[in-house]
Amino acid sequence: MLVATHMAAAAALYKLSSIDKLSRPARLAAIPAVLILSFASHFALDAIPHRELQMPGNVAIGLLVIAWLCLIAWRDKDVLVLATAFLGALPDLMWVLKISPAYDAIHSSLHFSGVRVPSYILLVELAGMVALMIIVSLRRSRSQ
Ligand SMILES: [Zn+2]
Repeated sequence: MLVATHMAAAAALYKLSSIDKLSRPARLAAIPAVLILSFASHFALDAIPHRELQMPGNVAIGLLVIAWLCLIAWRDKDVLVLATAFLGALPDLMWVLKISPAYDAIHSSLHFSGVRVPSYILLVELAGMVALMIIVSLRRSRSQ
């Protein structure tokens, strides 16, 4: 799955949590849960049948989404947009960096490995990623 999809999904998960609308103590208590869910969302998305894109295309789309997320974080003055997006992508970064054979085995076991899916599934994923980006754009964080 595209790293950009993982980042957009985790950022959307954070925005949809609406924790910025909680009181400060409740927000501080909820932030760890949202960060953990952002990381865990990666594995849930990986389990969905999907097509893989080669590294250059994956990185190019990822850089565009990172730039867009930086704009959203700057607009909303909300670094958690970037933190959650980073955590959504972190499992693949850990895999690329080969941090541990045991981790790679866990990641692979949770990853979709069924039959080859049709090419148009990549377009469906891109459409879903754009929808997630729209959600993140429309859900402005409350100013601190
Ligand atoms: Zn992955």
